[in-house]
Amino acid sequence: MAPLNRGRVVVFPLPFHGHVNPMLRLAAALHGRGLAVTVLHADHCAPDPAAHPAAFRFVPVRADVPAGLMASLDVAGVVTALNAIFAAPFKDRLCELLVDGDGVRCVVTDVVWYSAQTAARELGVPALGLMTSSAASFRTFVAYPTLLDKGYLPVQESRKEDPVHELPPFRVKDLQRVDSSSLAGFAGMVARVVAEARQSSGLILNTFDAIEAGDVNDIRDNLQSIPVFAVGPLHKLAPPPTKTTSAQDRAGCLEWLDAQAPRSVLFVSLGTVAAIDAREFAELARGLVGSNRPFLWVVRPSLVRDTSGKLLHPPVAGVEEEEETRGGRGRIVPWAPQEEVLAHPAVGAFLTHNGWNSTMEAVSEGVPMICRPCFGDQLGTARYVCDVWQVGVEVGDRLERGDVKAAIEKVMGGGGAEGKVEVREKMKGLKERTDECANEGGLSYTALTDLVDLMLSF
Ligand code: UDP
Repeated sequence: MAPLNRGRVVVFPLPFHGHVNPMLRLAAALHGRGLAVTVLHADHCAPDPAAHPAAFRFVPVRADVPAGLMASLDVAGVVTALNAIFAAPFKDRLCELLVDGDGVRCVVTDVVWYSAQTAARELGVPALGLMTSSAASFRTFVAYPTLLDKGYLPVQESRKEDPVHELPPFRVKDLQRVDSSSLAGFAGMVARVVAEARQSSGLILNTFDAIEAGDVNDIRDNLQSIPVFAVGPLHKLAPPPTKTTSAQDRAGCLEWLDAQAPRSVLFVSLGTVAAIDAREFAELARGLVGSNRPFLWVVRPSLVRDTSGKLLHPPVAGVEEEEETRGGRGRIVPWAPQEEVLAHPAVGAFLTHNGWNSTMEAVSEGVPMICRPCFGDQLGTARYVCDVWQVGVEVGDRLERGDVKAAIEKVMGGGGAEGKVEVREKMKGLKERTDECANEGGLSYTALTDLVDLMLSF
């Protein structure tokens, strides 16, 4: 590692698990290149310092977050409110760091923290944005006014299969949106994100050439004077965080996987935010149990909601009982050490909501996917997985037991299904290209060097 005398970078992740993770991996990658790191963070979703390099400094940004805000399903409303609530406290903390004379070279905020970008600019500190989702998602942000003008959004049932000519390869139904937020609210938020990115000192993308070269180039053309760095997959570029796998996770998941045959297990997880209704939960359970295969299913307490958004207690005990009577091949856990699970040789496929981190983790470990996107960028990412990279299959807009079983057979084999070999071969090739990008001398590795050079020039 380069000596830590190259100045300090301040990072400010958005307080959601899927955003904090990649920001701290970026921070670790910069630390590995000799930059000191201060992590500014909201109190809720605070990172565990023990899981990160001892030299990282963690500074809370305290703000009055109304009770219940973080549980709201109106994602655009939550993000807009957080931007308003944290703008002043973030600016105050950054000011203090500057007064401390700590050698702050620049700030990296989540690209969605547009108010923090403004604050840094007002203080004269170079600010870069990290897009924790795909380049295709950022392209969609840029194209949002056009998508609205041309009537692609809101999605009309009669047009949902139509191609979006301005944004290939998307069909109308793949376009990023959040049904629990108003379209105007989402469009307003996205417009602020793009406007701030245009004034930033650079855009960092957690993606890489082998999967999104065209999208990255398109963003470069669009942003013109702003440097764009495609440094993904960040979890492969950064040294792994200190292992914090609990004994419970180890016994519940990894030791159980140790006892399974190679590539025999289906891993099932819908990330940290997405929810399904009770009917889909029951259909998924029946499909998994009926597949007669070992499965490892993450059922977190917030996985099931009714149509009004109210949380329902997932009926795990009933599924476990049914599974037990059929031979007990499955295992249900509230949380899994996902990166380690996907890297385990027993895992043969991943039923996922296609959150960007989950998708990148599956691609880097070469695990084919069964896609059940729920909202936002997940819809477009599933399109790339199934139709562009061809390393997965869709399971339909609503989970039905027969479709779940058929998708499992298609990806893992059995039931006379075609496709297993093809999907697996494509995934093998994509994994190799991913490794090439991330390894020393690869495009992402080089992009990280360019990013550090820019930071040292500030
Ligand atoms: N994750 C995990 N264990 C779980 C569920 C999720 O480690 O049981 C991690 C997963 O590895 C990924 C992140 O949480 O890094 C989820 O991010 P993603 O973008 O896939 O989805 P989100 O939760 O933001 O919808």
